[in-house]
Amino acid sequence: MRIGIGYDIHRLVAGRDLVLGGVGISHEKGLLGHSDADVLLHAVCDALLGAAGLGDIGHYFPDSDLRYKGISSLLLLERVGETLSAGSWQVGNIDIVLIAERPRIAPYIDEMKANIARALGLPPSRIGLKATTNEGLGSIGSGEGIACYAVALIVEQEK
Ligand SMILES: [Zn+2]
Repeated sequence: MRIGIGYDIHRLVAGRDLVLGGVGISHEKGLLGHSDADVLLHAVCDALLGAAGLGDIGHYFPDSDLRYKGISSLLLLERVGETLSAGSWQVGNIDIVLIAERPRIAPYIDEMKANIARALGLPPSRIGLKATTNEGLGSIGSGEGIACYAVALIVEQEK
């Protein structure tokens, strides 16, 4: 049994779609990045890769690679899940804390959990997802970006 942690942050800018946990959210700004910039899924990918001792998402999907330009991070998460399975790991559970001042995340949480569960072939009950604001403090509090922490437990697959 192993544990991993992931953290990511992306800048909020005008003219981009906001995608969090694979859910398109109506908002006046979106996250800046090479892929769809889904900060939540990137943190989850890094937690899973970290638990397996496999480096980070930038190593597997470099932002210099045009194949990943605008790609849905759900596909990256699926790929990470397959990499873990190939290494005889299965996901125990994942817990996530998303830090966003705006928009309100609560209405989307069930759909985000369902997306993650589907990408990894898990029941949604294995995914914890909380959203919090930064109480107006600092750059996240002023809406310059959205950050996310995730932890993941992985267990060795029975042969
Ligand atoms: Zn990212």
